[in-house]
Amino acid sequence: MTRVLFAGTDQNWQTYRRLIPEALKARGITAEFSRDMPPEDVEYMVYSPMGPVRDFSPYTNLKAVLSLWAGVEKIVGNPSLTAPLCRMVDEGLRQGMAEWVSGHCLRYHLGMDAHILNPDHLWQEDSAPPLAQKRRIGILGLGELGQACAEMLGGIGFEVAGWSRSAKELAGIRCFQGEDGLESLLARSDILVLLLPQTSETTHIINAKTLAMLPARARILNPGRGPLIKDEDLLLALDSGHIAHATLDVFAREPLPADHPYWAHPRVTVTPHIASQTRPETAAKVIAQNVARGESGEAFLYLVDRRAGY
Ligand code: NDP
Repeated sequence: MTRVLFAGTDQNWQTYRRLIPEALKARGITAEFSRDMPPEDVEYMVYSPMGPVRDFSPYTNLKAVLSLWAGVEKIVGNPSLTAPLCRMVDEGLRQGMAEWVSGHCLRYHLGMDAHILNPDHLWQEDSAPPLAQKRRIGILGLGELGQACAEMLGGIGFEVAGWSRSAKELAGIRCFQGEDGLESLLARSDILVLLLPQTSETTHIINAKTLAMLPARARILNPGRGPLIKDEDLLLALDSGHIAHATLDVFAREPLPADHPYWAHPRVTVTPHIASQTRPETAAKVIAQNVARGESGEAFLYLVDRRAGY
């Protein structure tokens, strides 16, 4: 009997209480799956940062912590966690992010606002957009989500480039890395998409200096994490018009406080951390797959590199 503790929210529990046992059974695993068991009995913990667990030290027999979230910045530095930590990589999460990013890129590319918000009923014959091949999109972060976006955007026809820590070769996508690579990527991004994890290296990576490297009137999408952007620098760049618009899904403080300047800024669209979500049907299978791997002695999938912070 494999013991799996569910350490998510009440709402998560309603969704996963059936799906995870079914997925475990489908993998041939006989498991006790519960929200409540003596800490020393727990072998696997299904974890959400919104759930109840902060101190992992009572869980002395943990084989792995399996996060329901892709971003692990709230847990990766927790000194009480010594067991392997796996993040969520889920087909539904990838698809949702690619849809959100593509939709908002198309809004910018097609200049939709000029037609949707047209209070003076202007007949603007000269407003036809260029073809997607003429629009350069840069993605910071070419991991699971960045690559999913790059593939969908490339499929539409955009000229897509991306930047990552390690060198990559991806069909149809120009790949950059390192300090020089960042500058080159920024200089050719009419639309910049932030899909980096929040780590000590990526915090405030978008600041006055890097904003100035973007072409004039560039647009920014941030579905990554709020602290990637130095907010006061972005606000200045928006006020000056150097950045034409930003669509922000994530913030240093969430929910975004009611008096935050982003809410009222005419060049900012705020979405409430909904760019993508873990989809329970597929995520339950990912959890079960990793429990199965742990039980058969195989390496866990999607293991977090604790030193790199993601
Ligand atoms: P991955 O770990 O798969 O990818 C991260 C990418 O960032 C990798 O390409 C990595 O490089 C790159 N990277 C990390 N650090 C650096 C650095 N210092 N310099 C250059 N590149 C760097 O993560 P995912 O794609 O799964 O997720 C990305 C983020 O999206 C999550 O961390 C989370 O914050 C956010 N997210 C937001 C959601 C939302 O609804 N808004 C939903 C889910 C996730 P390399 O490939 O070389 O390792």
